[in-house]
Amino acid sequence: TTIKDLEPTVIEELASQISGTLILPKDENYEEARKVYNGMIDKHPGLIVNCVDAADVIHCVNFGRENNVLIAVRGGGHNGGGLGSCDDGLVIDLSGIKYVRVNTTDKTVRVGGGNILRELDHATHAFGLAVPGGMVSTTGVGGLTLGGGVGYLSRKYGLTIDSLLEADMVLADGSFVTVNKDQHPDLFWAIRGGGGNFGVVTSFKFQAHPVKTVYGGPTLWPIEKTEEIMKWYDKFIQNAPDDLNGFIATLVIPGAPFPEFLHNKHFCGIIWCYTGNLDKAEEAFKPVLEHAPIFEHLGAMPFPALQSLFDGLMPPGLQWYWKADFFNELDSKAIAKHMEFGKAIPTPLSQMHLYPISGAASRVGKDETPWAYRDAKYAGVIVGIDPDPANAEKITNWCKNYWDAVHPFSSGGAYLNFIMNEGQDRIKASYKHNYDRLVKIKSKYDPNNLFRVNQNIAPNGH
Ligand code: FAD
Repeated sequence: TTIKDLEPTVIEELASQISGTLILPKDENYEEARKVYNGMIDKHPGLIVNCVDAADVIHCVNFGRENNVLIAVRGGGHNGGGLGSCDDGLVIDLSGIKYVRVNTTDKTVRVGGGNILRELDHATHAFGLAVPGGMVSTTGVGGLTLGGGVGYLSRKYGLTIDSLLEADMVLADGSFVTVNKDQHPDLFWAIRGGGGNFGVVTSFKFQAHPVKTVYGGPTLWPIEKTEEIMKWYDKFIQNAPDDLNGFIATLVIPGAPFPEFLHNKHFCGIIWCYTGNLDKAEEAFKPVLEHAPIFEHLGAMPFPALQSLFDGLMPPGLQWYWKADFFNELDSKAIAKHMEFGKAIPTPLSQMHLYPISGAASRVGKDETPWAYRDAKYAGVIVGIDPDPANAEKITNWCKNYWDAVHPFSSGGAYLNFIMNEGQDRIKASYKHNYDRLVKIKSKYDPNNLFRVNQNIAPNGH
């Protein structure tokens, strides 16, 4: 059933039940409200409900189920494949469910289901604390956490899910549960990587960690040095202390704030974050600087500053196409491909990243959470980005060709938060040995697949 097939009284009844606001295609703010981060996505929901509390979410879930309407759940709207929206159905928009409360006694933090990373970082930083998150501060805490959460603190404190203690959820039958290691442990397991398949999370509770001022920033080498730098980096980062993290990239420097001599040139870069003792930071970076980067901008900064370093380059509305893989090793043939495709980056914002999955992130068991690739060394992502829709095909083709070239050296699956919609086989490959357990839990809590606008775990397993 689409929303426009419903009697107006059905929508009016929903409106009377909720505290938030309803947005229909005829409304003035509809065009703005239906936008998601990726400018390539052009979905037209039949109804968007800006929820302000869990009660609103319960009413929306019941409405969707009772009227047989497709439901999409939107956190920060950053999903590459546009999984925070849908055509003709109902978008449960959580962006009105925002609050961050830091408990300084046990260093835990409660976050609303619709908060973005910037708000979480801002609130915790005041207390010298941080929760591991992602690299661009406008990303939703919801989608990032439910998919895993890879970031600057992964080596020191693990993935975002490794700091998740509890969540409040609205399930497919409209019931409301709190899940943690003691209450509904099956659901608590499933949401730490299983995405939005199991319900709508209205509140997360995280363990925060002492992080205040970090030392980091970019180091760049000409793209011709990619082979040398990647080979060195591969050994260096695997053996580095947990306090040192850095993801390696092939990229183009698009312009300011970087100096002019770098503009529009292609580079191999590493973006660093060091959480150790600041007095020891320069020493920690000595081996890096010995490799004579053509440019470095390392220094001490508040953690939220590093977390938002690239926000200016990544505003919403860009064309965005990405593909991903896990890698157990950096094969020298793969490295040669990185250099080849790095040289061919088609637009200034397009890039490739390899994020280390080592240190604390690798010390969590392969079945402790659904996030199966704890033994992979890197989560790799290739992303074609450009403001101009006319370049959509160009960036997509470059991304696909780059992926085709390096995929044979990969471990099989991908970090599902770094892909578009690639179908069931890819989802299965990414959950590997944890897939069947996820299917069982899905079948128990959402047997009719009400929550299917996501990297879907179908209740019947295919
Ligand atoms: P949305 O599009 O709102 O939602 C994504 C999915 O999660 C949907 O299926 C949605 O239904 C579900 N969902 C969201 N919130 C909830 C909730 N509260 N309850 C139930 N389901 C929910 N990932 C990293 O790990 N590390 C990074 O450093 C990183 N950097 C990024 C930078 C940019 C610029 C972008 C665009 C993405 C980045 N990502 C990163 C990927 C990001 O984790 C995913 O795109 C993720 O899906 C975004 O979550 P969201 O809530 O913003 O998205």
